[in-house]
Amino acid sequence: MARREKDEIVTIDGPSGVGKSSLSRQLALALGYTYLDTGAMYRAVGLFLRDLHIDLDDDQAVAAALPGLDLHLFPVTEEDGDVRVVVNGQEVGRLIRSPEMGMLASRVSAIPVVRTHLTRMQQAIGRQGRIVAEGRDTGTVVFPRARWKFYLEAAPEERARRRVAQLLALGQEVDSQKVLEMTIQRDHDDQSRAIAPLLKAEDALLIDTSCLDIETVCRKMLAVVRGG
Ligand code: C5P
Repeated sequence: MARREKDEIVTIDGPSGVGKSSLSRQLALALGYTYLDTGAMYRAVGLFLRDLHIDLDDDQAVAAALPGLDLHLFPVTEEDGDVRVVVNGQEVGRLIRSPEMGMLASRVSAIPVVRTHLTRMQQAIGRQGRIVAEGRDTGTVVFPRARWKFYLEAAPEERARRRVAQLLALGQEVDSQKVLEMTIQRDHDDQSRAIAPLLKAEDALLIDTSCLDIETVCRKMLAVVRGG
């Protein structure tokens, strides 16, 4: 496919705690693109279904509930700001960021009707172009025609360590061992699910962030994007 036929979209995929959110935010701000946090959408759906007491094993009940979801993401405007997530008029940003909500997001993300629903929403947002999308399947399933694709990886211990630091900064109580166990479990679940598993797109650039700081990785990614 000729380069000019690709979409003005950057995708950043990889496991949890690899640095995707910080990098996507910084990259989006530096490029003047919109940051699309697809993980926040799965977390929001998890919260929405949990609050409605929907049985997650009941596909029909999940499908019947989804049309009642009114989900909006408001882009970040500063480097350390978080995306604002609003579910049916209620701001849920803080509620969805705990490790438990990460596990719940992973669970609902394996439900086919949820994936179809959110993938369509993400593609509708992507149609405006100039997007930095981060998640697990943004380069493979959501935006296969994205012009720039990155896949980040790092050792689970290092990712868990970063997650602990993030949660502490948010003022949450943290059990480091539990965070490591959840990190490994979530990797396994995300990689082994039947639909849209966590996978490096063939044409994605692989970056191991284990020994690199965010600034170095960001500079590297910016150079790739600005290079054409
Ligand atoms: O990135 P974040 O940790 O917020 O994602 C929460 C969960 O949502 C992931 O563990 C994954 O199961 C799911 N997810 C997904 N596809 C995406 C983004 C997130 O399945 N594109």
